[in-house]
Amino acid sequence: MRVRFWGTRGSLPTAMRSSEVRDKLIAALKTANGRHFQSDAAIGNFVDNELDFPVRATYGGASSCVELDGTSEEFIVCDMGSGLREFGLDSMRRSRNGRKKVYNVFMSHLHWDHIMGFPFFVPAFDPDVTIRIFGGHDTIEQALRRQQEKISFPVPFDSLRARFDFSTLVPGEVAEIAGCRVELIRQHHDNDSYGYRFSSNGQSVVYSTDSEHKLDDPLSIQRFVDFFHDADLVIMDTMYSLADAVSMKADWGHSSNVVAVDLCHRANARRLAMFHHEPIFDDNTIRKIHLETIRYEELMRKESALEVLCAYDGFEVPL
Ligand SMILES: [Zn+2]
Ligand SMILES: [Zn+2]
Repeated sequence: MRVRFWGTRGSLPTAMRSSEVRDKLIAALKTANGRHFQSDAAIGNFVDNELDFPVRATYGGASSCVELDGTSEEFIVCDMGSGLREFGLDSMRRSRNGRKKVYNVFMSHLHWDHIMGFPFFVPAFDPDVTIRIFGGHDTIEQALRRQQEKISFPVPFDSLRARFDFSTLVPGEVAEIAGCRVELIRQHHDNDSYGYRFSSNGQSVVYSTDSEHKLDDPLSIQRFVDFFHDADLVIMDTMYSLADAVSMKADWGHSSNVVAVDLCHRANARRLAMFHHEPIFDDNTIRKIHLETIRYEELMRKESALEVLCAYDGFEVPL
């Protein structure tokens, strides 16, 4: 199984500002310190190996969209944030090389940042495509149709040519979809959200975004520890710091890096991918939080290590 991140930003898509690009160039030239390079390849080597991530790259700004690849010939994707557009184009390239034109989409919930990529999902115009959309909410079709009503968007839902199928999943029940055993859990978020656990060939990936954890509710915490148990990768909303999450942003429906590490430790998960980054954070800030989270994990570790990754648009995790 391979996990591919097409959109990792929370709440609102973002773009890098010119001032941030300028700061990156200054930092890169400072590191180069007048060095002369013999070729483009030598420059590429310097960029890849000697510059820190926030200098040479960006976490990106597309909203939630994560692909699980390798469980069958069909596509699996979680959420349809603005990252879905890029995924759609890439999947069409793969379909031309023989990949089956069947998409299985799992929705955490229906807030704008998780559905806004759908009107730009080009495979939806192909009559040979089947799109199956799953979720814990029974209002998914309604949300997608409403998004494309004339007052908000020029192309109505009914002009899409793909075959659609909407299914409501029930927490506690197991579904077999596209070579995966799929379970879901109801999460604390405005109008509810759902987390998913996908298992295939002895590997498990948990996708749990837009979920607030109440630290004073041990039963709820245990429910998530059980759901995450022994996962090879937990993708989790780490939008806030713990201080923010328990004080001024309590009940905003999101989680923190500290809670994510604690839950993954208790669940004996192997890797955590920090996800749904706060839109006001620039690359340096996200990198700083990532490094702090790695240090926190080392301090709190009791048994086996949890590898802390920080997702960015275009990031791939082979399992
Ligand atoms: Zn969100
Ligand atoms: Zn939300």
